Amino acid sequence: MATQIPQAPRVGMVSLGCPKALVDSERILTRLRADGYAMSPDYAGADVVLVNTCGFLDSAKEESLEAIGEAMAENGRVIVTGCMGDEADAIRARFPQVLAITGAQQYEAVVGAVHQAAPPAQGPFVDLVPQPSDQMVKLTPRHYSYLKISEGCNHACAFCIIPQLRGRLASRRIDAVLREAEKLVAAGTRELLVISQDTSAYGVDTRHESRTWHGREVRAHMTDLARELGRLDTGGGTPPWVRLHYVYPYPHVDQVIPLMAEGLLTPYLDIPFQHASPAVLKRMKRPANEAKVLERLRAWRGVCPDIAIRSSFVVGFPGETEDDFAYLLDWLEEAQLDRVGAFRFEPVEGAAANALPDPVPEAVKEERFARLMEVTARISAARLAAKVGRTLPVIVDEVGEPDEDGDIGATGRSQADAPEIDGQVFLRDVPATLAAGDIVQARIEDADEHDLFAVPA
Ligand code: SF4
Repeated sequence: MATQIPQAPRVGMVSLGCPKALVDSERILTRLRADGYAMSPDYAGADVVLVNTCGFLDSAKEESLEAIGEAMAENGRVIVTGCMGDEADAIRARFPQVLAITGAQQYEAVVGAVHQAAPPAQGPFVDLVPQPSDQMVKLTPRHYSYLKISEGCNHACAFCIIPQLRGRLASRRIDAVLREAEKLVAAGTRELLVISQDTSAYGVDTRHESRTWHGREVRAHMTDLARELGRLDTGGGTPPWVRLHYVYPYPHVDQVIPLMAEGLLTPYLDIPFQHASPAVLKRMKRPANEAKVLERLRAWRGVCPDIAIRSSFVVGFPGETEDDFAYLLDWLEEAQLDRVGAFRFEPVEGAAANALPDPVPEAVKEERFARLMEVTARISAARLAAKVGRTLPVIVDEVGEPDEDGDIGATGRSQADAPEIDGQVFLRDVPATLAAGDIVQARIEDADEHDLFAVPA
């Protein structure tokens, strides 16, 4: 049976208060947009309305309560956030039906409340952002942010219904994207994850329209975007880590590799190849499906030896023969990708692939999936083992409590690891002053199939 994917839910936003509250609103919307939500300009079209309140003065509180009242009357499904969220009792006394109340800067809690009130469309082919498996809602802002640069897609991959769900490619203005990134960095973001359905196609729909940004003309183009993001300053002239996700290997991707070698862009590319067999790729109707990918991978590693390549693959696509699958395994041995995610093909309601002949039996899918995971785990382990003895920058995600000897451990990630989908670096004996978001140099002491073990250098 085909899996049904719901339409993107729509969120309305009323933002009151100071410029700081406005930054909070933007940050919440940034994350919701990345999670696949659409924005509603009016109450009527919204599945849920967020009211970002101000509680600084009595008059501001009254204004906030009025705004909540209006949203309740016009829509009825309301989440309250912002400074007045600290006075949840006063809000509940007047509006017992509000869905959730969270305080200022509790981005993750607000996003969690929106997910509960209007669940996002989810599935391996619609998620741009990994959803945490434990569903735990964190209250502290993360030091990484997803930056969505466009919506929709102009391709017609047979297994995908994004073009039906989200429409054709609609790129955001480059200055708007850069302004958002600048604000995120000013608010503490140390790592930007650029996402879209097809990042290398950014600006194709606007003919790569130029805008002025800090006195420079910049085009809506992946290369310009990458260069400008690499010029942002997290303090003391240090750029944020910038990762490009969902990049198709169009020829111009070659232009961003030197930016990685220069240190402007994190040496990491997430390229969803999905398969390697030309026959399967043709049936999948994949973009940028060309034979020279292995040569290009070699050339990229020549320019930037530390580049980490992440990809995802589908096994058991209709018509995939044992030869096609063996081709994929051989290709993976050659390509030596750093990180691989795999899915067993499943039909999604409305996708063209559902009508293709020769479905692969479930047992065969399972068996191929297991073989693919075995090969990719072995490759990953060997690539990680080659890092033992090196000193690498690690971004800290979480610092632990001291153990009985007073030693403190921390978890972080190397430049080869995107949050939530790749591996981790487990650090021992870190200084008590270390905090999430810090970037430290660490000597790699050990490795396993997915993770590294290190000590601050
Ligand atoms: S490139 Fe293909 S898989 Fe990706 S969103 Fe477009 S149609 Fe879907």
